[in-house]
Amino acid sequence: MKLLLICGGMSTEHSISRMSCTNIRKQVNPEHYDVTVLGITKEGDWYILDQNVTDYSSENWLDHAQVVTETFAFLKSFDCVFPVLHGMYGEDGTIQGLLEMANVPYVGCRVFDSAAAMDKVMAKKLFNAAGIKQTPSVYVKKQFDGKFVVVNDDTTEDENVKDVILKTIGLPCFIKASRSGSSVGCYKVSEVSELMPRLQEAGQYDSKILCEKAINATELECAVLGNDDVIASRVGQILPHGEFYTFESKYEDEQSATCIPARVAQSVQDYIRENAVKAFKALDGHGLARCDFFLDQDTNEVYLNEINTLPGFTNISMYPQLMKDLGIDTPELIDRLVALAFER
Ligand code: ATP
Ligand code: MG
Ligand code: MG
Ligand code: MG
Repeated sequence: MKLLLICGGMSTEHSISRMSCTNIRKQVNPEHYDVTVLGITKEGDWYILDQNVTDYSSENWLDHAQVVTETFAFLKSFDCVFPVLHGMYGEDGTIQGLLEMANVPYVGCRVFDSAAAMDKVMAKKLFNAAGIKQTPSVYVKKQFDGKFVVVNDDTTEDENVKDVILKTIGLPCFIKASRSGSSVGCYKVSEVSELMPRLQEAGQYDSKILCEKAINATELECAVLGNDDVIASRVGQILPHGEFYTFESKYEDEQSATCIPARVAQSVQDYIRENAVKAFKALDGHGLARCDFFLDQDTNEVYLNEINTLPGFTNISMYPQLMKDLGIDTPELIDRLVALAFER
């Protein structure tokens, strides 16, 4: 089977994708696939990477690479595509739309489910409709003229952004670019004076901004796999080093750690596994997702935080680790994901 892996991409998570893809390339069963790796630069140019390059996170990833010009015909020449891309133009339904148009099977969520999961503001509405508990939030939109307004559920707008946030969710709160990942454009705000500057910063990444009540949280994650029949892994725990799980604590801080299973009550783990599948189904998910939850240390309430439809895939990433814990090692996981891609 001719399998195309895609890495890089026009995303703030470009570098993470190259780490994920390096691991997937290493773990693919060579007896099952004839693998080609496509690298997309931050500028959006397409290159077939050289077979002798095996570490796509290295600076020389484009050495001897071959430029792709006929992109559509190129995609059509494969039996299956695995877009190992995170964030914008990878996890958000855009490349999935291109793959649909090329009529080539691909791993993971389809157009709508990808777009819905990527957009935290919209995902909240769908999870809410499915009756899944989430943290209280306010949706702020940055208009074309640069002005910030609160968009209420009845779509009326309110210009008193600061007042609405303070009254509805209070401080501390989290301010997040709606369509982002790896904690890029995600800030914790503890002082009123930081509120508008942080909204401005988040607005650099996305015109849609989600403001959420800050939870004193134990961070728990659950991996799901499947299309119609969805299985859930055990629950893993994040032990972030620092104030919260920032970009730096995720990828650069050696003192951040994970543990499987999570050190929380069995009832909490059961609740999370059930709600992970429920949330995946609420978006009509396909293939895989990592579902992130918060256990509130003050109240013991469990909240769904978000779903990632193309979670990190390095050898220490939570998704492949949770699958290994289920008895599915990464080569088998790739086989299963590819098989699921053909159920269309
Ligand atoms: P990724 O896709 O890499 O998991 P992301 O960029 O989509 O991350 P979130 O997972 O929503 O962003 O938030 C990043 C981190 O910020 C969380 O893991 C957590 O540490 C912290 N955080 C976000 N929202 C809240 C909240 N409401 N209360 C407490 N902590 C939060
Ligand atoms: Mg995310
Ligand atoms: Mg993510
Ligand atoms: Mg997250």
